[in-house]
Amino acid sequence: MKGTIFEHSRQGKRGPELPALDVPAVDPASALGPEAALRKGPIGLPEVTENEVMRHYVTVSVRNYHLERGMYPLGSCTMKYNPKLHETLARLPGLCGLHPSLPDHAVQGTLEIMHRLGEALCEITGFEAVTLQPAAGAQGELTGLLLIRSYHVENGQDERREILMPDSAHGTNPASCALAGMHVINVGSNERGEVDVEDLASKVGPRTAGLMLTNPNTLGIFESRIEEIAAVVHGAGGLVYMDGANMNALMGIARPGDMGFDVCHLNLHKTFSTPHGGGGPGSGPVACIPGLAPFLPGPCVRRREDGSYELAERATGIGRMLAWHGQIGVLYKAWAYIRSLGAEGLREVSENAVLNANYLRARLRERFELPYAVEGRHCMHEFVLSGDRQAARGVKTLDMAKRLLDYGLHAPTVYFPLIVHEALMVEPTETESLESLDAFVEAMLSIAREVDEEPGLVTDAPVNTPVLRLDEVRAARDLDVVLTVEAERLAREEAGGEAG
Ligand SMILES: *Cc1c(COP(=O)(O)O)cnc(C)c1O
Repeated sequence: MKGTIFEHSRQGKRGPELPALDVPAVDPASALGPEAALRKGPIGLPEVTENEVMRHYVTVSVRNYHLERGMYPLGSCTMKYNPKLHETLARLPGLCGLHPSLPDHAVQGTLEIMHRLGEALCEITGFEAVTLQPAAGAQGELTGLLLIRSYHVENGQDERREILMPDSAHGTNPASCALAGMHVINVGSNERGEVDVEDLASKVGPRTAGLMLTNPNTLGIFESRIEEIAAVVHGAGGLVYMDGANMNALMGIARPGDMGFDVCHLNLHKTFSTPHGGGGPGSGPVACIPGLAPFLPGPCVRRREDGSYELAERATGIGRMLAWHGQIGVLYKAWAYIRSLGAEGLREVSENAVLNANYLRARLRERFELPYAVEGRHCMHEFVLSGDRQAARGVKTLDMAKRLLDYGLHAPTVYFPLIVHEALMVEPTETESLESLDAFVEAMLSIAREVDEEPGLVTDAPVNTPVLRLDEVRAARDLDVVLTVEAERLAREEAGGEAG
């Protein structure tokens, strides 16, 4: 298969039939803007036929691994199957064709959806107020931290700038802290993989702005002492932030607002029916207690007495987090998801996500190490294995991740969280069938056997993919994928190896 559409090009080949020009032809030189801005020669578009274009892009689309091809068990990142119906709904012309500066009276339907979605997210999280503006989980974190910051400043406690955070936190947490002008204080985890409450208690004080916590944490473990943790932070005058990027274990079962949290963000593009990857779009609404509501970004959707809706500014808010009102397409899909499942359905999603994760965990324990395991305790929607046993035989987790590609599967998240050596973080999600879970288990167990019997198979992987193993260092330094792949191919040929 040719690598780019330009390689299909041959001079004079024609693709589409365009209709005859039905407006006067314009001499570009005379009509279009300043001379310096005009193109001097042909743009150099490829000359290809319509079916070549179609076949090229369809072929390229299946060379890559994606959720439409198979399971994507990325822990923390929740790559679940998202119903295509929701895409269709979000693309209805009356919804997706709206300009964001249309007057309120012309967009009542969209404002109502935003308002009702906000209410639903409050119900799911157990909070009273929400903003739909943030365009990603990380931007939600920044928003939430700015709420906490505003709260302390408002109370004359500007010196409260320390955010406590466990060592298992997602990388965006410390980054958001820095952006919000706060400092990270690390809190240790205990041997159960939970927050070390004694360590936490020794670190709170008059400079504490709050605690940022993921629950279930990134080990897939529910913080069993969460109410005590919240009380310790509140007792010291701080607030408690929940990183709710992954609500897949909690929806319909437990609510951050009931656990003692004050504010939390959600990743609609993980839990609520928007696939993520390829850089977006995302949406990270933030929900909070009434005490933080005055600081939420504006404008927000408000329901008037007569039942109509308006976008209202918030005089005391932190300002806008986004030029417009939110990633509206993602909001539509989340609304469709919540409405189509209903309260019972959301609960079932969580139950099945947890069940699937525990099934994989139970079967994979046989060959892989499971750190922080506590007798009788289950995991939530995800769990973290360690590849230490395999590493001792010279095979890294990265090698096993690449070998999974040969089995036609995407790897779990690797090397995160940082507190587990050679981490493999697995999140099957509720949308995988028993058959696909079993296929994943068989592949993992088979790779574990290869590590014992023929480790070269794993350290040379992948061998069945369109692109073979790349030189990681070169790939990171030289971001030209085509050149990197070509250089690898030449190196392989020179070495007399088999280029796939
Ligand atoms: C994905 C994730 C984030 C960040 O979300 P983005 O939308 O990628 O910014 C934060 N925390 C956790 C636990 C996550 O899994």
